[in-house]
Amino acid sequence: MSLNQQVSERLNEFKSRIARNTDSYLGYPVSKDFSYEELAELLQYPLNNLGDPFIDSTWKVDSREFEREVIEFFAKLLRAPENNWWGYVTNGGTEGNLYGLYLAREIYPQGICYFSQETHYSVAKNLHLLNMRHIMIRAQKSGEIDYDDLRETIRIHRDLPAIVFANSGTTMTEGKDDINKIKAIFEEFSITQHYIHSDAALCGAINPFLNPRPAYDFADGADSISISGHKFIGSPIPCGIVLARKDKVERIARSIAYIGCLDTTITGSRNGFTPLVLWYAIKKLGEKGFADRVNHSLETAAYAEQELIKIGIEAWRNPNAITVVLPEVHDSIKEKYQLATANGITHLICMPNVEKHHIDAFVSDIKTQQTH
Ligand SMILES: *Cc1c(COP(=O)(O)O)cnc(C)c1O
Repeated sequence: MSLNQQVSERLNEFKSRIARNTDSYLGYPVSKDFSYEELAELLQYPLNNLGDPFIDSTWKVDSREFEREVIEFFAKLLRAPENNWWGYVTNGGTEGNLYGLYLAREIYPQGICYFSQETHYSVAKNLHLLNMRHIMIRAQKSGEIDYDDLRETIRIHRDLPAIVFANSGTTMTEGKDDINKIKAIFEEFSITQHYIHSDAALCGAINPFLNPRPAYDFADGADSISISGHKFIGSPIPCGIVLARKDKVERIARSIAYIGCLDTTITGSRNGFTPLVLWYAIKKLGEKGFADRVNHSLETAAYAEQELIKIGIEAWRNPNAITVVLPEVHDSIKEKYQLATANGITHLICMPNVEKHHIDAFVSDIKTQQTH
């Protein structure tokens, strides 16, 4: 059966619209310079990575062997403790964050979750779903958590386990919370029951290649980390990676075994295609390719910041950030480049596909707007 003419025309129109819309955006942290055509053939199979990627299943139409390699690659990159890590490919950063908080709550049901006001909007929803007690902490202008406020708040509640939801790359300004400073607060108040989840949606694939390396990973003290796959790496389908210390996951696997089922992931059926996408990107790029992408993005961001300042725009960025922050721009420019705007600021995110000529076009549009 084929589509009737009207329906197929509509589909064709949609295809051109999506191509145009993909071409123009500069305000979302989503790479578009990818090609996974070699995988397209696999779309004819009902791939499904049901259940735990590390436990054998009778279902064989899966890509779990590739998924395990993806997890292993990131375990190394994020300095997970040897033989003490576990993870899976998620539907995106939000699911990984939900997973980290879920582990924390199972381990410390009485704990309080602390997170900064610059934390991604999905966290409030996740905390609500998990029915977790939580306290929002002030953020600095950079987007980084206000350590004095965190310290004071934890001090008041020092009799309860502390769960910190740390950001490594906030949505608006790419601010990064320093896990070393968070750990120092735990030590100061002798808090031994603590858990740190690291939300590294964008920067999880960037940080390992930065110098100095931000304090955000397992070696720094994180218990779980979530990364989005469709952001810095790039994927036609949203996806992500969650990693956790295996000893923490075993505690929840046990608690679920108690009610009669052993199930370590959040959803039952899981995407079998996106692990192949991530695997393919890793094989094609290698660590060197990742590092090159990071350097290219940093160069472009430095260029964008400098060119905007030249025309009198108060642009700035955090150290080693690929996000350039600027005051809110005219609606027509916001619309044209799909720029996210909040609290009077907007941003350009110099993903690896962004080149100097994209920046030049943007700066020239701003200039034209200034003279009107
Ligand atoms: C994008 C983002 C998320 C959510 O990730 P999704 O992959 O969109 O679910 C969470 N936190 C931060 C900081 C993000 O930038």
